[in-house]
Amino acid sequence: MKILVLGETSRDIGESLSAISSIEGDRVVALFSTSHDEASRASALGYKVYHLNTRNTEAAYKLLVKVYEAESPGLIVSVSTKNPRDVLSRLAGLLDLPLATNVRKISVGDGKIVYERAVLSERSISLEEADPPAILLVMPRLFKPIAGEGQGSIEELEPSEEPAARILEVKRKELGGARIEEADVVVGVGRGFRRREDLRLAFELAELLGGAVGGSRPIAADLKWLPEDAWIGISGKRISPKLYIAVGISGAPQHMAGVSGSKIIVAINKDKSAPIFRYADYGIVADLYEILPILIRKLKERKGLG
Ligand SMILES: Cc1cc2nc3c(=O)[nH]c(=O)nc-3n(C[C@H](O)[C@H](O)[C@H](O)COP(=O)(O)OP(=O)(O)OC[C@H]3O[C@@H](n4cnc5c(N)ncnc54)[C@H](O)[C@@H]3O)c2cc1C
Repeated sequence: MKILVLGETSRDIGESLSAISSIEGDRVVALFSTSHDEASRASALGYKVYHLNTRNTEAAYKLLVKVYEAESPGLIVSVSTKNPRDVLSRLAGLLDLPLATNVRKISVGDGKIVYERAVLSERSISLEEADPPAILLVMPRLFKPIAGEGQGSIEELEPSEEPAARILEVKRKELGGARIEEADVVVGVGRGFRRREDLRLAFELAELLGGAVGGSRPIAADLKWLPEDAWIGISGKRISPKLYIAVGISGAPQHMAGVSGSKIIVAINKDKSAPIFRYADYGIVADLYEILPILIRKLKERKGLG
């Protein structure tokens, strides 16, 4: 079965190739990027690369339709990141193809594409099959990218018409503080905090532990007390620190899906029946306004700062 792999970077393409490593058949790559260096890196993976030379998802989709018609793949795979998801859902809509997200295992048997996908906030696995051609979006950072195996060719594809929506400018976002994806210790803040100013307690605790502060969706997305980069959960960031301290967070499945990779979870919540305690390795049933100042004082004493 011929497989078309779509990605915005050679790393993402390497991850998708790794996800399909047990499936036999030709591979062809579509790189959706304006970087020629990235196209060279993608071709070093050893396959033919169609370079969709645009950042616009609508333009990329139109070019991808041409690749699809030229190659007739039985399977299209991409890491599930925002822009490829946009491009591939347009393709699925146009061609009426099945599309599955959150895929974590793929095989082919009896002419069917068989795959496992995480469902119910990643608490269950659904085993499914589809007739080819089908589109599968694999979970990001689950597969180790394959290393380059040679030199493939590159076919440049330029957008032929002006897309209906145009990108005017791309600005770098200001990131506040340490990145929660990289921190060993993350203090998570939830609606247990009554005022924005009170988050200083979490920042002080995080600083003493050499960590970063993240938040539940209400805090980061609704109240905007933290930048969006600090939003933890199924629709925010997935983190895997050595220590996650959840303060005033109830433990909704959508939040917990983002912290399931944490080595140790400590929960601080004044409600002893809060669901977070089911996930926590250590639980403190207490008012955060009483316990955080104590923790901060003790840590300062230990560091000789008290
Ligand atoms: C499609 C969808 C996607 C979603 N995606 C996400 C996501 O990515 N991330 C996310 O976080 N949520 C997400 N949510 C929202 C999620 O369902 C919860 O509503 C949210 O996580 C709750 O945030 P919270 O724990 O901060 O607030 P709450 O649920 O209101 O919990 C606050 C907790 O603080 C405790 N508390 C109150 N005062 C104190 C105090 N003084 N001291 C100690 N404890 C105190 C309370 O007992 C309570 O348990 C999503 C929801 C939907 C429908």
